[in-house]
Amino acid sequence: MSERPYVIDEMISAKSIAARIEELCKEITAEYRDTDKLIVVGLLRGSFVFIADLVRELNLPVEVDFLEASSYGNAMESSREVRIFKDLRGEIEGRDVLVVEDIVDTGHTLTHVLHLLKARNPRKIKTIALLDKPSRREADIAADWIGFSIPDEFVVGYGIDYAQRNRNLPFIGKVRFVEGS
Ligand code: 5GP
Ligand code: MG
Ligand code: MG
Repeated sequence: MSERPYVIDEMISAKSIAARIEELCKEITAEYRDTDKLIVVGLLRGSFVFIADLVRELNLPVEVDFLEASSYGNAMESSREVRIFKDLRGEIEGRDVLVVEDIVDTGHTLTHVLHLLKARNPRKIKTIALLDKPSRREADIAADWIGFSIPDEFVVGYGIDYAQRNRNLPFIGKVRFVEGS
């Protein structure tokens, strides 16, 4: 747990997130109109709020599964080492898979997860990330759909934590450390 006092400044409002999800879901619904094989895979834990809003805005039959991969501990620093803590429950062979990520930062997590899932022979695999930090990219990867492109700031809320807190904020905010208090 962090000992340094901080405040959270709102960056993307709950209303803007909802509006963007509505737009994205129109595109995604069109993309998968002809399949009954869509499985939406949420990367835990950061995507849990996003995936909940996303699937309810999709006008399609969908299955939902989760995978937990992490390159972050409780720190604010990324690491190139990606570990799988929880694998999918179901098979994805021959399925259309949509991987849902909270933030693409260095890109190592998504690269690793895609490599792992492609080896299971899905019919098609695509990715969506709520947030993208292109200036931080190290791996050559881009999500197929992106909610918002943001600068290199440490953000929280809408499922995303700082030291396991703040996931329940309805908006995306940036962490700002304050002296004293
Ligand atoms: P990558 O492997 O792309 O560097 O890392 C992606 C993961 O790092 C994200 O899914 C997220 O869990 C974490 N991450 C990246 N940027 C932030 C951030 O600003 N705030 C928080 N809480 N996690 C972040
Ligand atoms: Mg994540
Ligand atoms: Mg985290």
